[in-house]
Amino acid sequence: MELFNKLLMMRQLKFQLGEIDLLNQRVVLAPGAMLRNFTYFMIKHPETVPEIYELMRLSFDEGWAEPVKKAYGFKSKDFFRWLIDLSNVAGWGTSELVSLDEPTSSGVFRTRNAVVSKYLVKKSSEPVCHIWRGLTAGGTTAVFKKDMDWVEIKCLGKGDDCCEFVFKPRELMRKESNPLFLKQLPIYQ
Ligand SMILES: [Zn+2]
Repeated sequence: MELFNKLLMMRQLKFQLGEIDLLNQRVVLAPGAMLRNFTYFMIKHPETVPEIYELMRLSFDEGWAEPVKKAYGFKSKDFFRWLIDLSNVAGWGTSELVSLDEPTSSGVFRTRNAVVSKYLVKKSSEPVCHIWRGLTAGGTTAVFKKDMDWVEIKCLGKGDDCCEFVFKPRELMRKESNPLFLKQLPIYQ
């Protein structure tokens, strides 16, 4: 929680009546069940998954990238780690970067106790963390300054012991022929 206290101290996290701002972007505290119910909808209508993922990806406001980099003087990898710290504070689960190949901006990412899948343990035959992977894809799009895509390969929702994602630039992801990738991403449609 060190990051949380630092954000408060630096006035980068501000609570005021009717509004919470994190680095000048408005955020909300909302029930996790809201995300679960939204995910139910996606499970019921799998054809909506790629488009909703893309909307989540784009909703990670690029406005966060420059102020954070400026405030902290971050290089890409440090910015990535800062975003992971932030997501851990913000209640999205406990995440870690498993591997990162810097020359290709590709890697593997793991989240334990992820908010949506925790509600849906073994409730699906497919991964369910589409909202989360959309936001993380948006985060890395800001970090690496190019369109990034994320695919979930392991998920609590389908009975795995954690949620695990592979990510790479969209231009490399387009070359994938794995059916799981085809289902989760909008780039093949
Ligand atoms: Zn998951």
